[in-house]
Amino acid sequence: MEPPGAADVRRCDVLVVGGGPVGLVLGALLARSGVDVAVLERRRAPSTHSRAIGLHPPALAVLEDLGVVGAALAEGVRVGRGVARSGGRHLGELGFERAWPRTPFVLTLPQHRTEALLAARLADLAPGALHRGQEVVDVHERGGAVHVSAVDHLAGRVATPGAAPGAAPAPPVVRTWRARVVVGADGARSRVRALAGVGVDARPYPDTYLMGDVADTTADGSDAAIHLEPAGVVESFPLPGGVRRWVVHTGRVPAEPRAGVLAALVAERTGEVLDPASSSMVSAFTVRRRLARRLVAGRCVLIGDAAHEISPIGGQGMTLGWLDAQALAPLLVRFLRGGAAGAADLRAAPGFRRFERARTRAARSAARRAGLNTVLGRPLTGAGGAGRAVLVRVLVRVLLGPPLRHRTARAFTMRWAGGGAVGGAPLAGAAPDP
Ligand SMILES: Cc1cc2nc3c(=O)[nH]c(=O)nc-3n(C[C@H](O)[C@H](O)[C@H](O)COP(=O)(O)OP(=O)(O)OC[C@H]3O[C@@H](n4cnc5c(N)ncnc54)[C@H](O)[C@@H]3O)c2cc1C
Repeated sequence: MEPPGAADVRRCDVLVVGGGPVGLVLGALLARSGVDVAVLERRRAPSTHSRAIGLHPPALAVLEDLGVVGAALAEGVRVGRGVARSGGRHLGELGFERAWPRTPFVLTLPQHRTEALLAARLADLAPGALHRGQEVVDVHERGGAVHVSAVDHLAGRVATPGAAPGAAPAPPVVRTWRARVVVGADGARSRVRALAGVGVDARPYPDTYLMGDVADTTADGSDAAIHLEPAGVVESFPLPGGVRRWVVHTGRVPAEPRAGVLAALVAERTGEVLDPASSSMVSAFTVRRRLARRLVAGRCVLIGDAAHEISPIGGQGMTLGWLDAQALAPLLVRFLRGGAAGAADLRAAPGFRRFERARTRAARSAARRAGLNTVLGRPLTGAGGAGRAVLVRVLVRVLLGPPLRHRTARAFTMRWAGGGAVGGAPLAGAAPDP
């Protein structure tokens, strides 16, 4: 028998919690395969933050598969080269032609623009599948289905008729959903992960950073630049619209998130002069590594940052999450169409254990690389600082030198992570920006 109020229950085959970049990609991949999918997103309106900017070649292949790579290439900046400097000296440079002949660059595009392209594609494929302002607060499995409760932040709270002024506000409107599978793509603090009882292995890093987007006043054009300086690393990446993203290591104590502070640190360490008045975003962040102990629990699956939060230094997180989505989508299609759709635990259905093993392995590998990037960017001061500075410079020269250069390029652009065609004709219009 249906529970009371069953008429109000909304149904779908796959409910994706979280309409960030990873939830949107999975929603679009499933919708394209004809799956009845809904994506619930807590935020009422699209985000405007430029958080993730680097799209590595495997991410471009996911966008190509979804038919939005042309729009991304038209908007983004193609970074075909990274240069490393220290104390004003050129240490070496890295190109991506051998590692990725089809797309020999990392594309930069602010995350909110990437999300907008994905949301538009999802709307084409499944109009109305993305529900904004819906915050999932409960998930439980019953009778071979997953029941999800979500607070509707867009429904006006109706005041109780005759209520005295100052009385407690009316309770929020809670919507109920029933799905055959729920996917948690709800980010690093995943509610779905907690509700599914999945623990995490967490490792905080002591590092803090200041990051900001300002008018590009450098002579670096479409190159990315890494300055390995004694006081800590300074990185910069071109963005569309003549803007450059700066990321500065600020030791163990977060710096004040002000454009003036960012400009002063950059000038002090690199000599580059930024215009703080042109800043469109400044924020301070800390880094941590948090890997879910399981990715599949009953009828719930975790992907993206909900499954693995890694240090953003190296910019692999979003690509990693998209590769999760790309691996999961066909398994879900097969599960829903096949005879195994009655299985209470997805781990008993074909492919899900392999998915969990492969994606956990990829996350650990990305986390190790991100951890190494983080350590290389630490200040080279204090006891033994001078010796470590020499060591880091030598290491960077070796990594960017002829025998290892191409391996480094493959590692840096996530060639190891699979996904994405490597051979074949170059993607239309896919030359690096001059
Ligand atoms: C400073 C910084 C720079 C970065 N740079 C890069 C980069 O250059 N390249 C790269 O690949 N990665 C980068 N990353 C990492 C990247 O931002 C993340 O890996 C990526 O955003 C993960 O996407 P996601 O969809 O899994 O999670 P999120 O982007 O966190 O999205 C989760 C979504 O779920 C929603 N949500 C949360 N809880 C609920 C709920 N209960 N109900 C409904 N909705 C909910 C949230 O509102 C959010 O929209 C960077 C990260 C940081 C912090």
